[in-house]
Amino acid sequence: MTVPLPTFAEPRHFSLQETLLFAALAAASAYAFGRRFAPILGNILRSKSDPDFHLAPVGPRVRAFVWEVILQAKVIRERPLAGAAHAIVFWAFCAFALVTLNHCAAAFGLSFLHPTGAFGRAYFYIAAVFALACTVAIAALFIRRFVFRPNSLGALSPESGWIAFLIFALMATYLAAFFPSGDEAATRALWWAHTIVLLAFLPLIPHTKHLHLVLSPFTVFLSRGSFAQIPPLAGEDDFGLVAGKDLTHLVSLQAYSCVECGRCTDHCPANNTGKLLNPKSVILGLRAYLNECGPASEELLLGKHNSQQAAFECTTCGACEFQCPVGIEHVPIIVGLRRGAVNTGAWQDERGAKLFLALERGSNALGLPATERDRFIEKNALPLFDGTQEYCLWLGCMGAYDPRGREIILALVKILRHLGVTFGVLRKEKCTGDPVRRLGNDLLFQQLAEFNLDALAQSKTKKIISICPHCVRTIQEDWKAYGTPPTIEHHSEFLARHLDRLPISRSRSKVASRESALVPRHNALDSARRAVGAAAVSPALQRGDSSVPVNGESRRDGAANPADTANRLVSAHEFTRAENAAYETGALAPEGSQQQTIVFHDPCYLGRYRNIYDEPRQVAALAGDLVEAPRSRERSFCCGAGGGLAFLGEETGQRVSHVRAAELAATGASVIAAACPFCNTMFRDALAAQGEGAPALLDIAQIAARGLPEQNA
Ligand code: SF4
Ligand code: SF4
Repeated sequence: MTVPLPTFAEPRHFSLQETLLFAALAAASAYAFGRRFAPILGNILRSKSDPDFHLAPVGPRVRAFVWEVILQAKVIRERPLAGAAHAIVFWAFCAFALVTLNHCAAAFGLSFLHPTGAFGRAYFYIAAVFALACTVAIAALFIRRFVFRPNSLGALSPESGWIAFLIFALMATYLAAFFPSGDEAATRALWWAHTIVLLAFLPLIPHTKHLHLVLSPFTVFLSRGSFAQIPPLAGEDDFGLVAGKDLTHLVSLQAYSCVECGRCTDHCPANNTGKLLNPKSVILGLRAYLNECGPASEELLLGKHNSQQAAFECTTCGACEFQCPVGIEHVPIIVGLRRGAVNTGAWQDERGAKLFLALERGSNALGLPATERDRFIEKNALPLFDGTQEYCLWLGCMGAYDPRGREIILALVKILRHLGVTFGVLRKEKCTGDPVRRLGNDLLFQQLAEFNLDALAQSKTKKIISICPHCVRTIQEDWKAYGTPPTIEHHSEFLARHLDRLPISRSRSKVASRESALVPRHNALDSARRAVGAAAVSPALQRGDSSVPVNGESRRDGAANPADTANRLVSAHEFTRAENAAYETGALAPEGSQQQTIVFHDPCYLGRYRNIYDEPRQVAALAGDLVEAPRSRERSFCCGAGGGLAFLGEETGQRVSHVRAAELAATGASVIAAACPFCNTMFRDALAAQGEGAPALLDIAQIAARGLPEQNA
């Protein structure tokens, strides 16, 4: 015996009074929606234009829209269970668009989906499947929010409860319409119940974070598309994000699109180490500003709603932007706020001022004389680039002046010579401007970029190789505002291409899969937390006592400004030498050994910024078996140096570098492999603080150079 499927029921006709009542309620609901939405839309439209905005090319925008909005891939990828529940609710809304239109049209006798027609019947069933799934999903999301209450979602909001209830009621009243069994009164009652819930839901949207339902498809489609891209200033009168009048269409749209999920804050290294910065609050602060002051206001943005201290705690690691499911671009916003503070003189920071002065007067962020670079080149017989060699080897501030950075350069030089690849270094090279660009000093950045672009053009450089992901990003992307930079690659990309020609190369260079490392990764994270709480960060450091010695020096005296940073780096030479000796005599286990484990730290500017994850792992795996840190690849945790923070010194709360170094050490690896001289210098201090038993620290170039003849240091 077959049981007939129930048919969706809707009233056969509506009286004039009912139609008029529906029209009045719908108009009231639409008015309540528009009354709140109109000022929001007005604020977005009255914001100034984005100087760099181009709709073309449309292809990548459509792809991002399909991937992130239609498929909800980003939402699901980062939080699989909650993300899937959210995606189901979204898809149900999409499926219900037609049902809802038909529902409203029915009140005027214009129903176009007929429950007994082939298409209408099928569509009502499909919508019912979505409604069932949505009912379960919204109940699960409600339980998560109100019972489990994850920290990232912030304080409980009654509005979220109301929204969940209304969505649940919408689905329930729709599903119930399959079971009135021909009872016209029941059918009519369900229709009106559904109508009332629907018309109550509509005005709540612009009053709550559910505004993202309307705005986020536009936010994703219109975003700049390039990760953490800092837009150009509009002209000489543009000082960055100083006041409301400086907010652009994109910034305002993004401010209103935040769904308050807290993913950005969950992954923020500053917030995770007890600092004031909370990327979600930055965005919500802009929204509160727009609501209170509007986009034409002269009121400062860094004031009541956002804090200057927080803006300058950002390492520009991009974890927030990578995580955000609605296309909010935190890094350009935070850099924009810094620009505003720097260009108007509102940011008064002794160390920042010394960094700017060092780069205005000299050539490098460490504040050392340029002759130091000349001596290094001369002592190591590095050839000058004359236009005939294949690569211009970019030394960068760290490679030219920092003892440890120099070791990395010399390791790479060994490899280049071994491979017979021709290269040369520029006679004169200045800092790429990375730290000042991200601290918001555009004028100084422009001067540095133009000097270097000119030097490269004069030397007829076509290809650059660099050991520093910050240099790579700045040269390739940020310099474009002032000229056409040569192509550049990070040494990990070069080394991965030449693996089979390196003496250390072994057939077992395998990369541990992320899945197989899942259990140890979680254990490692717990161990790291314990280590950070107990040892790596001493109670004095947790109190923020900056006079605690680090690597034999006072933090206040040692890492405070460019000149001091340089002193710290130079005095760390002994550590470098000791570690290199260990490297030669056994920090790397003998070739073929199975015991040695290596953990690779993904630098933010290589991973999230450049999408390079496998190449450095392939190189690191030459020295042993790879293990993964709990937070790796796209979710890697910053070392704390980016955004110019390596030169600003003091940190409130725990040090980002200590937390990360402890997490890496807790994997049990005997070697931490790095691929950025800034990560290297941050971890050097952090590992020194761990004392005996800390893993060795090597750049992938030093691993790859193993077994090659020595160079002078
Ligand atoms: S870029 Fe990194 S440090 Fe800055 S707010 Fe985002 S997650 Fe935090
Ligand atoms: S900015 Fe993005 S990631 Fe952060 S809370 Fe808002 S929607 Fe979530």
